[in-house]
Amino acid sequence: MGGVVAANRLRQHLRGPHRLVLIDREEQHLFQPSLLWLAIGERRAERIQRPLARLERKGIDVVHAEIERLDPEARTVRAGGREFTGDAVIVSLGADLAPETIPGLVEAGHNLYTLKGATAFRDALAEFDGGRVAVLTAAPAYKCPAAPYEAAMLIDYALRRRGGEGVRDRVQLDLYAAEPAPMGVAGPAVSAAVRAIVEQKGIRYHAEHQVVAVEQGPGRLAFANGVRAEFDLLVYVPPHCAPAVVRQAGLAPDGGWVSVDRATFATRFPGLFAIGDVTAVPLTMGKPLPKAGVFAHAQAEVVAANLAAEWAGRGAPRRFDGQGQCFLETGDGRAGLGTGNFYAEPTPQVKLRGPGRWWHWGKVLFERRWLSRWF
Ligand SMILES: Cc1cc2nc3c(=O)[nH]c(=O)nc-3n(C[C@H](O)[C@H](O)[C@H](O)COP(=O)(O)OP(=O)(O)OC[C@H]3O[C@@H](n4cnc5c(N)ncnc54)[C@H](O)[C@@H]3O)c2cc1C
Repeated sequence: MGGVVAANRLRQHLRGPHRLVLIDREEQHLFQPSLLWLAIGERRAERIQRPLARLERKGIDVVHAEIERLDPEARTVRAGGREFTGDAVIVSLGADLAPETIPGLVEAGHNLYTLKGATAFRDALAEFDGGRVAVLTAAPAYKCPAAPYEAAMLIDYALRRRGGEGVRDRVQLDLYAAEPAPMGVAGPAVSAAVRAIVEQKGIRYHAEHQVVAVEQGPGRLAFANGVRAEFDLLVYVPPHCAPAVVRQAGLAPDGGWVSVDRATFATRFPGLFAIGDVTAVPLTMGKPLPKAGVFAHAQAEVVAANLAAEWAGRGAPRRFDGQGQCFLETGDGRAGLGTGNFYAEPTPQVKLRGPGRWWHWGKVLFERRWLSRWF
């Protein structure tokens, strides 16, 4: 998300001799928030993807290749056997998913955070006729802190929607979370409100359940606190880690993420910026800024504006102010909206509105606009 916005904006601001290159190993841009709708059969894969090659029409060179090496000092990227050196390099490589770090997880469940996993889960859910469905967060920090909570509520909705069959009455729906509360960075009031909405739907919420292993046939989750829980259908949010190429470049030491200036997203290397999920921005409250598309987007705007101001004298320099918002799909065509300032001191100031139909349609419109605006 960050790379697509940065490339679009830089192309708008920098004309003439400036060359822009977007490198990605995927041919398609996937609008990840829509994976939640796809998982309950409300979207098809084609509808939520766009070919990155379309950006070529705007004058952006699109290179479809795996980035094999990144030299932050020389600002050189090696991809598909070619070398690219930039006057500026913007790293927006996201978070790698690491489900294999929990023994048995890959074999026993469906990965909600990939197109393949969400599609397989959709098919399994459509066939599901009763039993135990488990939604699991396999680590306490992950991109889009709302997503597993939305997933649980959408699963409840999808099962209730099959009304005549009475299938929801035959399903026990559990949400096992590694974290102590939903969307913790947004503060205790938002956490409590989200938990209440989830539990009102008959979803059983189990906080601070860190999974350590998963057994297959019959499926069983083993947690660090000694609890064991059986399931018939499992969908999970995997642990995340910084992409290998970023770690190898020494940009994310000690299993962490890229350190940046929280206003400009400059790294300690001149001309090298990092935005979005690959970064860690510490907040005074002790937890980092959540990983979310809304922040990757805003940070891309800031970096692009600052490069345009510096190189072409166009516009004024900008600083990221920590403002963000997040939809919370609750099922039945409704959603809530969390908005606020995540840089507020000493704690982020976030309010949750809704749920209501308006915010659901807001998210649908946002999805449509995203896929037409940038492609
Ligand atoms: C189910 C789900 C729901 C979500 N809902 C929301 C939401 O409602 N609101 C919100 O704000 N955010 C949401 N998010 C989070 C949002 O999608 C991410 O925070 C956002 O995509 C981060 O942008 P990014 O540019 O940092 O990384 P990404 O968008 O993940 O982009 C990283 C890119 O780098 C490429 N890449 C990585 N390594 C290499 C390599 N070695 N070589 C070449 N290419 C490479 C990848 O192919 C990818 O295209 C959701 C995410 C999921 C999974």
